[in-house]
Amino acid sequence: MTDEEFMHQALIQAKKARDLGEVPIGAVIVLNGRILATGCNSVITNCDPTAHAEIQAIRQASKIISNYRLIETELFVTVEPCVMCAGAIIHSRIKRIVFGASEHRTGGISSVYSVLQDGILNHTTQVTSGILEAECRQLMQDFFKQRREEQKIQREKIKQITRKSTDG
Ligand SMILES: [Zn+2]
Repeated sequence: MTDEEFMHQALIQAKKARDLGEVPIGAVIVLNGRILATGCNSVITNCDPTAHAEIQAIRQASKIISNYRLIETELFVTVEPCVMCAGAIIHSRIKRIVFGASEHRTGGISSVYSVLQDGILNHTTQVTSGILEAECRQLMQDFFKQRREEQKIQREKIKQITRKSTDG
């Protein structure tokens, strides 16, 4: 399978997150050209601020191969990992990461920090970015647009209720 095909699988995970009401980010971990584990962002569902898609996939992959090192694996994720996930990528010794859209506010790979490639740590991870970028970005933009609209409707409802109660 190509990078695009694996990223497509990560996008399926991202849509799973969206359908749970989570920020739509998905990940898959690949070993020897096959998908070993998947993860979708589940922070709200799990009441767990560390339940990012990458962490979910790393936990599952480690369990499956009964090893806390994920040497020789590749991580595909729809959005640039944050600093926490970049740290987890280092701890798990993932060989290569591939992400779709850059995250200009929190990205820990190239946008805000370069945790994996600043040359300070011994382990370096190969990085590829921009795979299916438009699709990954669109999914995020649609999600936040819809959420803003829902919040607006909610505010209007509250306004109407308070108006009614002061009229009566
Ligand atoms: Zn993260």
